[in-house]
Amino acid sequence: MQLLCPNCQSELTRSGESKRHCQACHSDFILNIECNECGEALQRLKACGAVNFWCDHCHELKSKSSANYRLVEA
Ligand SMILES: [Zn+2]
Ligand SMILES: [Zn+2]
Repeated sequence: MQLLCPNCQSELTRSGESKRHCQACHSDFILNIECNECGEALQRLKACGAVNFWCDHCHELKSKSSANYRLVEA
């Protein structure tokens, strides 16, 4: 999944587990992953190389594609 910079629409590069960096405008972002149903922050679960997310509020496993991604400028 490729995220675009909210400032300049360039592709962001990964600079950490939940950090993204824009090389075009030199902005740093924190990637927040939230439940698509309740908006709670999801916990990252790693199993066998696949990443899934757990919602504490819904008590449900969320896949990468059903999560909401929100970029917050760092
Ligand atoms: Zn940018
Ligand atoms: Zn939820």
